[in-house]
Amino acid sequence: MAAYYKKPMNKKRHPFGMDVRRRKICRFCENKIDFIDYKDERLLRRFVNDRGKIIGRRITGNCAKHQRELTRAIKRARQLGLVPYTAEVFD
Ligand SMILES: [Zn+2]
Repeated sequence: MAAYYKKPMNKKRHPFGMDVRRRKICRFCENKIDFIDYKDERLLRRFVNDRGKIIGRRITGNCAKHQRELTRAIKRARQLGLVPYTAEVFD
C-alpha cells in the first residue's frame, strides 16, 4: 500500500551546521593579566565596536572571568569619558 516517502539522505555536515573552528583562547589568560586597567583606553577600545558597544565573549574569545573584568573596566572608562557610551555612525 502507501509506500511512504523516503527522505533523501542529508549531506554529511557538522551537526550544528557551522564549520568546525578552533577554540579561541582568552588573551588575558594567555598573557596572565589579572587586572584590566580601566585607564588603558587603547586596550578597551579593541573590545567595543564602532557603535561603542562591548563585544561579546563569543566573538572575542575571552573567558568568563576576564570578560567580567573587562566589562567593568569599560564601564568605568566610560564614566571617565575614555570610551564612548554610544558612537554616532554615519550611514
Ligand atoms: Zn581569561
